[in-house]
Amino acid sequence: MDVEQQRIQDDLRGILQGDILCDPLTCQLYASDASVYQLRPLGVVRPRTAADVATCVRYANEHHLSLHARGAGSGVSGESLGRGLVIDFSRYMRRLQVLQQGSSVRVQPGVVLANLNRQLRGYRRVYGPDPATRSVTTMGSVLSVDASGSHYLRYGSARETVVSLQAVTSGGEIVEVSRHGVEEPGIPGRWAAGMRHILDRNAAAIEQLVASGRILRGGYRVDDCLAGAQIDLAKFLCGTEGTLALFTEATLRTEPMPGHRGVALLFFSRLELAARGAIAAVRQGVVACDLMDRRLLEIARETESQ
Ligand SMILES: Cc1cc2nc3c(=O)[nH]c(=O)nc-3n(C[C@H](O)[C@H](O)[C@H](O)COP(=O)(O)OP(=O)(O)OC[C@H]3O[C@@H](n4cnc5c(N)ncnc54)[C@H](O)[C@@H]3O)c2cc1C
Repeated sequence: MDVEQQRIQDDLRGILQGDILCDPLTCQLYASDASVYQLRPLGVVRPRTAADVATCVRYANEHHLSLHARGAGSGVSGESLGRGLVIDFSRYMRRLQVLQQGSSVRVQPGVVLANLNRQLRGYRRVYGPDPATRSVTTMGSVLSVDASGSHYLRYGSARETVVSLQAVTSGGEIVEVSRHGVEEPGIPGRWAAGMRHILDRNAAAIEQLVASGRILRGGYRVDDCLAGAQIDLAKFLCGTEGTLALFTEATLRTEPMPGHRGVALLFFSRLELAARGAIAAVRQGVVACDLMDRRLLEIARETESQ
């Protein structure tokens, strides 16, 4: 551990309820994720509360350190890696509360999606967006990358499930955001006013993009954030990958479990024909669609015969 790491560890140890670890082994463990990249952080914070996260953000501001939120570290583009402090939400922030007979939930960011669905099963409810990594992926990341999955056709992506978000701002304030008017006091009102300005200034470009009929899946989406006279800030923050705020809790809508399921397996000789088939299938009201190429089928066959 170098002098800077020792100082960070000594400074934060007294003021966090969670862990601060700057030893070489921990830093090496957090230097990689599911990507091909390696970046050794200065240290790792494992917060227990939103106040811990806020403390960490303020400390990082004072000392010009970068922060890198991390869930399960299953991202393949190195999105949870960095040279500053990694904030690992998966260790302690895993509280899950089922609300209103399961029609909504309040989750902390470290709750694993599969565990959430396990809890909801008893209520015959399900969290809709289903990224393929659901057995490990954390809810903070699901919101952060605006995840979706095979059932996108029915449930859309994470931004469509969010009722409200508790987040820590870049200034270290803890805010709860949902839909807000531009006249509201405090940070939500200020953010809503800023968003309103962006929406007004770019109205023509946004309208053109929406009219193109393209499925819009990038981060920083603004086209669907207007809710009457209010701005849906929770929706806007989904997909911003921790660059605007760190999520510490969220209230999310769930869906009723389907009463029946049916699966059809269609074989195509060419990828282009499969794409055409998918378009035709949507017209028949399918709610999920997955494409499996020859390589994937071969791996499945090999695994089965082992
Ligand atoms: C094999 C594979 C299949 C996949 N399939 C799909 C799919 O079908 N659909 C889909 O949408 N995605 C898919 N993904 C991407 C997947 O959704 C993300 O990799 C996953 O959500 C990451 O979860 P994680 O908990 O491991 O997050 P990490 O990899 O640890 O982090 C992911 C991002 O979330 C940020 N983050 C984490 N916690 C917070 C927080 N509390 N506040 C703010 N930001 C935070 C991180 O900084 C990072 O930018 C797939 C990935 C793989 C490897």
